[in-house]
Amino acid sequence: MPIDLICLDADDTLWHNMRFFDRAEQAIVAMLEPFADAGLTREAMARTEGRNLSLYGYGAKSFTLSMIEVALELGGDDLPVSAVRDILAAGRDLLAHPVELLEDIEATLTALAARGRLVLVTKGDLFHQEAKLAASGLGERFAAVEIVSDKSAETFERLFARHGVDPARAMMAGDSMRSDVLPALTAGAWAAFIPQPLAWSHEVAEAPADAARFRQLSTLAELPGWIDSIG
Ligand SMILES: [Mg+2]
Repeated sequence: MPIDLICLDADDTLWHNMRFFDRAEQAIVAMLEPFADAGLTREAMARTEGRNLSLYGYGAKSFTLSMIEVALELGGDDLPVSAVRDILAAGRDLLAHPVELLEDIEATLTALAARGRLVLVTKGDLFHQEAKLAASGLGERFAAVEIVSDKSAETFERLFARHGVDPARAMMAGDSMRSDVLPALTAGAWAAFIPQPLAWSHEVAEAPADAARFRQLSTLAELPGWIDSIG
């Protein structure tokens, strides 16, 4: 059965993302060195980010608020005001870094567009995701762009219905097992997992046991070949 709709994640699927968050986390680890070791700071960041997701959503701005919260928690009343200033600067860097495409993305998008309608599906801060898409120069490549607050099975079910496609003829590809692969499979679609280094702990999950509509690929460039083998 051919694939009609090809949905692609953006962050760490089309362009680099986690390396910038990792850089910001390294900055806060260094800033908080007088108060806590690296392990404690990273553990507090993961806990605080997870707790704040339901309030702030995903993205660089909520990450910045979590950095401030962790600095206040670990530094207490001894935290210098300059630390907050430095965290805000690290947060602005996160929002302003240049978009760096992963290898061979443009040629891969050309190959995929010959096989189905392309839809970009990304979560995070609306303004920031729109800015990154504009800076990437890839906007024209997609039939539709969906910036969602979270990626659940319902998100994908609604998306497939809106695009008038049978889920069995839809594909989702991305670097997150939790947000790209598992909910798309639950919604009845095919899913490709393309892991990247520096994965965020929140996005890690077990691979699906039923592997019929699932494939792990080493790069997005392998996706057109898998789609051809399905057809
Ligand atoms: Mg991603």
